[in-house]
Amino acid sequence: MPIYEFSCQHCENSFEELLLSSRETVACPRCESHAVERKLSIFRSPGNDAGKGMASGGCGCTPNTCACH
Ligand SMILES: [Zn+2]
Repeated sequence: MPIYEFSCQHCENSFEELLLSSRETVACPRCESHAVERKLSIFRSPGNDAGKGMASGGCGCTPNTCACH
């Protein structure tokens, strides 16, 4: 599922939001401002590299097709 990281331009809060549609409006959970900037799409936190090599490392990839490590 597409999870995006946002940075609020109003209070500088960083948060992650699951977007079902790219047209969906995102509001900052802290100040409810809509002045948020989408930073990048992420699958999981980089800390999941510890599970690298496992078939289900949380990134949705298999070791043979992994494109995100
Ligand atoms: Zn905010």
